[in-house]
Amino acid sequence: MPINTNFLIIGAGPFGLSMSAYCLQNNIDHIVVGKSMDFWKNNMPEGMKLRSAFDWHLDPAGIDTFEKFILDRGLNIDDFRPVPLELYLEYADWFSNQKDIKPIDNMVTKLYYDEVKSEFIAEMDNGDMIKSDNVLLAVGFKYFKFIPDEYSKQIPEDKYTHTCDIKSFSKFKDKKCLIIGGRMSAFESAALLNESGAEEVYISFRHNTPVFIESDWDWVTPLLEKMSESPEWYGKLNESEKDKIGKRFFGEGRLKMEPWLKPRLESDSIHVCPDTEITKIIGSDDGKLKVNFNTGDHISVDQIVLATGYKVNMHDVPFLKNGNILQSLKISNGYPELDSHLQTSIPGLYATSMLATRDFGLFFGFTVSVNASAKIIGKSLLKKIGG
Ligand SMILES: Cc1cc2nc3c(=O)[nH]c(=O)nc-3n(C[C@H](O)[C@H](O)[C@H](O)COP(=O)(O)OP(=O)(O)OC[C@H]3O[C@@H](n4cnc5c(N)ncnc54)[C@H](O)[C@@H]3O)c2cc1C
Repeated sequence: MPINTNFLIIGAGPFGLSMSAYCLQNNIDHIVVGKSMDFWKNNMPEGMKLRSAFDWHLDPAGIDTFEKFILDRGLNIDDFRPVPLELYLEYADWFSNQKDIKPIDNMVTKLYYDEVKSEFIAEMDNGDMIKSDNVLLAVGFKYFKFIPDEYSKQIPEDKYTHTCDIKSFSKFKDKKCLIIGGRMSAFESAALLNESGAEEVYISFRHNTPVFIESDWDWVTPLLEKMSESPEWYGKLNESEKDKIGKRFFGEGRLKMEPWLKPRLESDSIHVCPDTEITKIIGSDDGKLKVNFNTGDHISVDQIVLATGYKVNMHDVPFLKNGNILQSLKISNGYPELDSHLQTSIPGLYATSMLATRDFGLFFGFTVSVNASAKIIGKSLLKKIGG
């Protein structure tokens, strides 16, 4: 017998949990599936510190905030700047308990849409079937790790790893490593590699070294509140207005790095190589990789770490590829086309987080947007079910 629900939330990361909290608060019948905070537990490195602070919480009602979690424990917020990854995971756990959110710890293997019945059918990895009128894709980043062909073609498979697949840097102890990429994740990986005993760490990127200045995110929250109050507002901005917001966010998020990272990079073993391009990588019999740069320099390393980020392509989501959704879904440049309520071209199918960054701005790639996302989608659901 299939399980029936009004709203199936696929994903139990920050976006899925926040959506569930909104549904519980507004009596929207729903089910959350997925492994709770899986990406944060298994695809971020041990010892990582967050870029975000305490004001980015999970509760659309603004009650069970990150600050409340800390203060209820008698702890001092100032002792946790920057926020350790483990603390954020504890907060997410506490938040789920407070709200009584219980994700079903199974994965969707196929998703179908029955156009005649306007109904979705999710096949689960334990054989269960879930029928739902509405579905949210809150699957985050993991399916979209970006490995440029130029590297995957040149480097033997066992000699490179995407940052997404590194839980602990200790396996690189006594190794010479090259990190390709020049943003926060690359620099934090360099610090963690060095602290884990890597012999040498090189960081190569094609641009200037980002500056170590605290990012100013204060303007983002009011913007997201405006979006949640009138979901059409952002979509109606003209391209140059959107571009201005996008550039400001890019400037804060990508051109700056957190000042607390700087002292951790001041080591004779870390070599920062800005404005460099790799021209060739050659493997040799001793297991080393010879890396040539456009500057004429070359280095010899044991391992390459790709801090090359993420790139959305809906065709990379296995349960979509294995079902029938992609046949009718409108996709632009890999992303789903979304209306002002984060709804795709298939009525009842919503998409958020990284999938929404094309139409809703880069801040949807960060947890600062979880509450806005829940409210924008929630309003659409409440309208449908007459709430
Ligand atoms: C290195 C790094 C550092 C970051 N630091 C920060 C930071 O400091 N602050 C910040 O705000 N953001 C940060 N981010 C971004 C942050 O990770 C994302 O904003 C956030 O994880 C997106 O949340 P999500 O809920 O969409 O997905 P995720 O957290 O990625 O969770 C995805 C969920 O989907 C589930 N899922 C996937 N496939 C299926 C399936 N087939 N069936 C069922 N469930 C499925 C998973 O089990 C999981 O529960 C960072 C990202 C990276 C890569």
